[in-house]
This record gives sequence, structure tokens and C-alpha cells, in this order.
Amino acid sequence: MTAKIDAYLSAEIPATPCLVIDLDEVERNHGAIVDAAPWLEVFYAVKANPASPILNRLARAGAAFDAASPAEIAACLAAGVGPERISYGNTVKKRSDIAFAFEKGVNLFAFDSSGEIEKLADAAPGAGVFCRIVVANDGARWPLTRKFGCAPDEAVALLLKARDAGLRPAGISFHAGSQQIESARWGEGVRWCATIFERLAAHGVALDLINIGGGFPVPYRDDEKLDLTAMFAAIDRAIDESVGASRPRIIAEPGRVIAATAGKLVTEVVLVTERSYGGHQRWVYLDVGRYGGLAETEGEAIQYPLVSPVGGDTSSAVLAGPTCDSHDVLYEHATYDLPIDLDAGDRLVFSNAGAYTSTYASVGFNGFSPLTEVFI
Ligand SMILES: *Cc1c(COP(=O)(O)O)cnc(C)c1O
Repeated sequence: MTAKIDAYLSAEIPATPCLVIDLDEVERNHGAIVDAAPWLEVFYAVKANPASPILNRLARAGAAFDAASPAEIAACLAAGVGPERISYGNTVKKRSDIAFAFEKGVNLFAFDSSGEIEKLADAAPGAGVFCRIVVANDGARWPLTRKFGCAPDEAVALLLKARDAGLRPAGISFHAGSQQIESARWGEGVRWCATIFERLAAHGVALDLINIGGGFPVPYRDDEKLDLTAMFAAIDRAIDESVGASRPRIIAEPGRVIAATAGKLVTEVVLVTERSYGGHQRWVYLDVGRYGGLAETEGEAIQYPLVSPVGGDTSSAVLAGPTCDSHDVLYEHATYDLPIDLDAGDRLVFSNAGAYTSTYASVGFNGFSPLTEVFI
């Protein structure tokens, strides 16, 4: 899928660490969702990779955008996206940030608490709002629960409060957790939405939006081939079963599944050495680590496929980043087998690294620069 990046890397030797993004793959990934789920409006979760070439490409492909801050909203507007195609999906916002978005014409906001309704009513009077509920995240490699979302039982009272405050209750959202491999989680979320729709209808409030969030998975190391088409078909059936003929507007906020496979992160080996403490192990130090963009290696949660151009026999290695922080170890328990001949100066390539990397890089911890991005 990313032969274009391989061709680029055989012709060019970019300074490392470097994230190479294939913009055609971004567009293909967006198109694959549109093809698999024509009933769905795609709001790209900008935080996955907010680079302007990506936003421009998706804007031209007709995507909408899920933004979480004034800077992300400004980036979407700069990409030529109209405010009607932007949703402000962060449920925790400053009053001044809400006012900024409203003034730019954004008219769809998330909330999950009473305090947020007061800010929205004040800074975005009359705006469309949706309530985020918390749903089970089991099966997600990178869960997103607990910090956001109210209990489904609370949503009815909150949406009534939003109406009474002069806002327009639009619907319900949930997030099944990022890198979620079980489509049943979306089915559960949709069933909750249907229940809340009914309860609000009894109060004379007609909701017309279900936001099924993001979380759609990509093939990292060891993940079996994931069938996105089957996943969307299962979600489609769950929607049919829950809301049937009165299907409302359905939107989703995919991030990872659009950006991840479009990126390969090239890194250079800084040192290979044996450490005798805690059992004899080979340590491979790279010029990218937890603070250089690979934040999702925390807890070894996301395990990128790693490719070495060096051939020959392999043995296991601990992989560590370049900084002087001893938490800057990528994989110690997940066994990565690397060539025995691997040495300082060799390059390694992390694939499926286009999402949640470039903006997770620190601004200069230990003097290491943020991750460079190249777009092809
Ligand atoms: C992060 C996030 C997403 C994107 O999740 P992915 O797993 O990358 O698809 C979507 N919606 C919200 C509210 C998010 O916080």
C-alpha cells in the first residue's frame, strides 16, 4: 500500500528521525471508509495528524473534521473547510475557545457535563450540541474511557438542560476506544443512543444525530488482518436494529485508520550493546523514542511493525530512545527480533506510524528536535 514511500526511501536518504507520509494513502483510507459505509459522514479526527498537506488532501476529498482546539479549527479553515464541516468534539473547552469557534461559524459542539452547557449557552448561544456518553472500551489497545463521557443515564437530563439553556440538542456521541478491534463495542454504543433518543422523544425533544466516534483499527504488529468492511457492516446492522426506519444522521470521527498506514518513520541506530543486569539482553538505542513521537509505546500498547534493511539471522532486543530519561524505552517485554549484525548507523523503519506520532514529539527534550515530516 505504501510502495510510494519505499520508492522514495530507496532514492532519498532523509535526515532521521523522519516521518514520511504518502498523501495518496491518506486519501485511499478516507475513500475506503466512504465506500464501506456510504451512510456515514466522515469527520477526520484532526489530532491523529494535523499536518496541513493531510488536511488539504482530505478537504478536497470531501471530508469533514473533528477538531479539539482553536488551533485545529484554524488549521481546518485554512485548508478551505467551511465551518459547517467542522465539529468541536472536545467536551472540555475554555469559554474563550468556544467563543472563537462560534465566531468562526462552527455550530456543532460536544459536551458531557452541566458546567460545559453553561459555557456553551453563554459563548455559543443557540448552537447545536451533542452529549458524549461513556461506553465500554474493552478490546481497545488505547482506551479512551473514564476521562470523557457522562453515564448514559445522565444524558437525558443534560440534553434537557441544554435545551432549556437555549442550545439545540442534536444528538449523542460515544467513543469505543482507539485501536478497537471488536465491532460489538459500537453496537452497544448505538443501542444506548437509541434508548436516549426514545427517552428524549418522550420529553418532546427529537434528536437527529448519532456520532459513533473513532477507534477503527489498523494492522500493527501481530494484529490479524482486520476487515474494516465487515466492521462497518456490523455497525450498520446494529444501527438498523436499534433505530430502524427512523435512522438519524450518522457521523464518525476516524483518525488513526486514516493517517496511520500512510506513514513510515525512519530512524537510525545510535548504539547496540549488551547489558548484563536483569538477565543478559541486547539493547538497541534509536534516534527516536517515547519523547520523539512514539508516545503510544507507553505500556507497550501500540506495537509498530519494524523493518530492517539489514538481513541475516535475528535475535531479540530491547528498543530504547535517545534521551536521558530512563522511561524512554519503547519495547522491553514485547519481543522484537532484529538482525544480529545490526549496528550503529543502520536504519530501521517503523511502519503504520502516520497517526499519533508527529505531534506527540516534545519540542526539544535533551535538545532533540521534534519529528520532521516529509509529504510525498
Ligand atoms: C481521538 C479521538 C478520535 C479519533 O480516534 P481514532 O482512534 O484515532 O479513530 C475521535 N473522536 C474523539 C472525540 C477523539 O478524542
